[in-house]
Amino acid sequence: MYEKIKEMLMSDGAVFVGCSYQEETPFPGLNYCITFGIKLSSAIVDTISEDGPSKTYFHHYRTVNTRLDQMALSAVIELEKAGFNGANIPASQSTEGTRGLFSHKKAAVDAGLGWIGKSALFISRETGPLVRLATVFTDMPLKCEEHIYEDGCKDCDICKKMCPSGAISGKTWEKDINFTDFFDAELCSHYMKEHFKDIGRGAVCGICMRFCKYNKK
Ligand code: SF4
Ligand code: SF4
Repeated sequence: MYEKIKEMLMSDGAVFVGCSYQEETPFPGLNYCITFGIKLSSAIVDTISEDGPSKTYFHHYRTVNTRLDQMALSAVIELEKAGFNGANIPASQSTEGTRGLFSHKKAAVDAGLGWIGKSALFISRETGPLVRLATVFTDMPLKCEEHIYEDGCKDCDICKKMCPSGAISGKTWEKDINFTDFFDAELCSHYMKEHFKDIGRGAVCGICMRFCKYNKK
């Protein structure tokens, strides 16, 4: 069943699919997570400049999130048809301040798909930072391997230098790091709302993604 869902997601545009077991999820008893990602268009990300995002990028960001939600729903439908429980949460939604219900990035890291960069973005081995993620929760048992966490940022600090808000500490992400010491999401969000309010009311920026060294064509 997992292979069938994986195939369906890949044929629908996912660039990777992986799984992990999470102790804490928004749905009691649904601890197996299927995480997948859609690559953002390189040409559209290139419309982000060092001064900020573009309206084209904002539209793309929203469109990709909608596609992720639709794909996650299709996976949930397949799981239920097969007699399991399945559920998903929005690909992008803040429920408490700047935080969502669940960290798609943590699930992606636990699935061995990449690492969390100094920019706090998920950096995929396939696409670098040009990716949006979604997670499907299920009680269908999955064979998820343990993965050794490998940080690819090393001595790079491009995003810290490029970020106009000062949100990026320059520290390397670790599983038990105090997230606020690592990345100041409030500063990032405040800057976007102040400076880019004419683009999706300040919902996006993307400078750190655009200039990350892993943003390769
Ligand atoms: S999205 Fe913009 S403000 Fe936020 S961390 Fe990245 S570069 Fe800085
Ligand atoms: S710009 Fe450099 S430090 Fe920042 S996330 Fe990308 S690789 Fe890591």
